[in-house]
Amino acid sequence: MKILIAADMEGVSGVTCWEETQNTHNEYARFRRIMTEEVSAAIVGAARGGADEFVVADGHGDGINILIEEVDARAKLNSGIASPLSMMEGIDQNTAGVIFIGYHARAGSQDAVLAHTWSNARIANVWLNDIPVGEYGLNAAVAGYYGVPILMVTGDQTACSQAFELIGPLEMVVVKRATGYYSAECLSPKVSLRMIEKTAERAVLRLLDGSAPHPFIIQTPVNVTIEFRQPEWAERSERLPGAKRLDSVRITFRAPDMLAAYAGFRVAVN
Ligand SMILES: [Zn+2]
Repeated sequence: MKILIAADMEGVSGVTCWEETQNTHNEYARFRRIMTEEVSAAIVGAARGGADEFVVADGHGDGINILIEEVDARAKLNSGIASPLSMMEGIDQNTAGVIFIGYHARAGSQDAVLAHTWSNARIANVWLNDIPVGEYGLNAAVAGYYGVPILMVTGDQTACSQAFELIGPLEMVVVKRATGYYSAECLSPKVSLRMIEKTAERAVLRLLDGSAPHPFIIQTPVNVTIEFRQPEWAERSERLPGAKRLDSVRITFRAPDMLAAYAGFRVAVN
């Protein structure tokens, strides 16, 4: 039973500012270690539940955060950008389920540490078929393309509740309670890691007993709408074949399936 651990960094316990997630800052070394430990805890728990193959996608920034020499040795680590499936690299039809680690709420959310969607500088909102989504939604829809359910999410309370609301009754671990964009009440890793282990075990057991959420499947064709923060970005991306400008900051395009939608979205953001 193969599990994909899709990891980000803003939702890791302890992180409350961008600098802690940027390799130019000296505090980054601490938080990449905690990110690595949270991924390992998910593997330990999922293995206890019955999973026996673990693929990890390092989905933050340049994808070079997780320490390969420290992460659980059962992990095969997809690192670096731009990999074909980015934050979901490693997913395929043979994947039984996905665990989101270190996730954050979508751009514009209240009480949500570092809430953003893909690019904090460029993106204000994203919709798939008129459903507002953050990274949890885009990535869950990619898993849905392969018929794979999202089993679990970790992050602050807003990230977890947004994922729950969109995807269904997945397992979650609130590793910090956001009190603002740059503030949160954080659990000690000694506590959060144990919670992640236990919850990942339960998430896999629920997959086995048939009570895990259904795959999050977006109807095709997929209409992708992006609201940029500045007209400049809408101007650039409306030149993509098939893209239409809706107003000064919004573009939309239609993709035949979720993989094409994801690829188009990534190109538009870049
Ligand atoms: Zn990130």
